[in-house]
Amino acid sequence: MELPALLGGTPVREDKIYYGRQWVTDEDIEAVRKVLEGPYITCGPKVQEAERVLESYTGAKHAVVVNSGTSALHCACIAAGIGEGDEVITTPLTFAASANCALYCGAKPVFADIDPETYNIDPESIRAHITPKTKAVIAVDFTGQVVKVREIRQICDEHGLVFIEDAAHSIGSAYDGVKVGNLADMTCFSFHPVKTVTAGEGGAILTNNEEYYEKLVLAHTHGITHDESQMEGAPHEGIWYYEQISLGYNYRMTDFQAALLISQMGRIDEFVAKRKEIVARYDEEFSKIPGIIVQKNIPESDTSRHLYIIRLDLDKLKCTRREFFDAMSAENVQCQVHYVPVYWFPYYEHMGYEKGLCPNAEEVYKGIMSIPLYPRMTEKDIEDTIHAVRKLAEYYAK
Ligand SMILES: *Cc1c(COP(=O)(O)O)cnc(C)c1O
Repeated sequence: MELPALLGGTPVREDKIYYGRQWVTDEDIEAVRKVLEGPYITCGPKVQEAERVLESYTGAKHAVVVNSGTSALHCACIAAGIGEGDEVITTPLTFAASANCALYCGAKPVFADIDPETYNIDPESIRAHITPKTKAVIAVDFTGQVVKVREIRQICDEHGLVFIEDAAHSIGSAYDGVKVGNLADMTCFSFHPVKTVTAGEGGAILTNNEEYYEKLVLAHTHGITHDESQMEGAPHEGIWYYEQISLGYNYRMTDFQAALLISQMGRIDEFVAKRKEIVARYDEEFSKIPGIIVQKNIPESDTSRHLYIIRLDLDKLKCTRREFFDAMSAENVQCQVHYVPVYWFPYYEHMGYEKGLCPNAEEVYKGIMSIPLYPRMTEKDIEDTIHAVRKLAEYYAK
């Protein structure tokens, strides 16, 4: 048996690899350079072009591009009319932004538990948390697997709730053949560098609903309109004239970021194919290793995985998650944990959220870590990652 590097053995590789990494080509850089050399580096034509690209890729009627996934979620909450006294149901096993966006609007995030095998929000738990104050569900396509859209749609329709999909992980995935972006009332993407396509920072909201679309446009540009038909005041005074008709923010993306996004979207099929290929390899290898639990696939979801999570079966291993994680680092395979349950954070604790709210999420959290998954991984990177997991699982087997 091989000795873990943490305990004095030889690491499986010399240089470190990380759980995620962007892939920016010369072509991408050239696209950005062209914009930087031109007249518009913001508020120019590239942002609109990026919106058309996202619409045609997802099949959704409208896309609004913004400066981050977090801004996208905030805009979606504004467009949904979420405000003081409202409740918004989401999952605790997510990045903090999925819940913070409700707080931005003065609403209360309510955490529904997850399915312990797929790790996605459990529709039955959503149902159990609905009150007369519930206004929306923010369902996260965790790791890229699409949530149970059919069940959640039905719950939202029955109770008059807005269905917002946090699709920061799932651009490129589909549900029953329909692309993410064209499923929920509003869908939010992130273009952070670890996500499937990047704009440096960036996000977008997709919708088929005209009313939401108008509100999203206003929310991301100060609530200011240049459209006469939306104006309330004096007749048109001249072409300089505009009106602020609601409270909005400056959540605009720059044109050079939009150029990067368009260029990256040109390779999304390749990114998705490569991610699927690596996931298939991992699933096959890890399902044979005792002590490692593989995330269960949702059959309706044709998944482009953003994260690959292994879950340690701590009954079968004589180590803690912390020891396994540190041992992976010593092998030079740098993992990450997605995520600490949101309501465990001090900020949430101080608002009165208590541990134990979502037992499945807390139990799953104890054993999980995200291993390297990104399209630029070489054959050796993939082999080394599999080797490291197998080596440690064998060493720590009870
Ligand atoms: C990355 C992420 C966000 C936020 O996106 P940013 O672009 O970083 O603001 C929101 N939700 C989830 C699930 C994410 O992973």
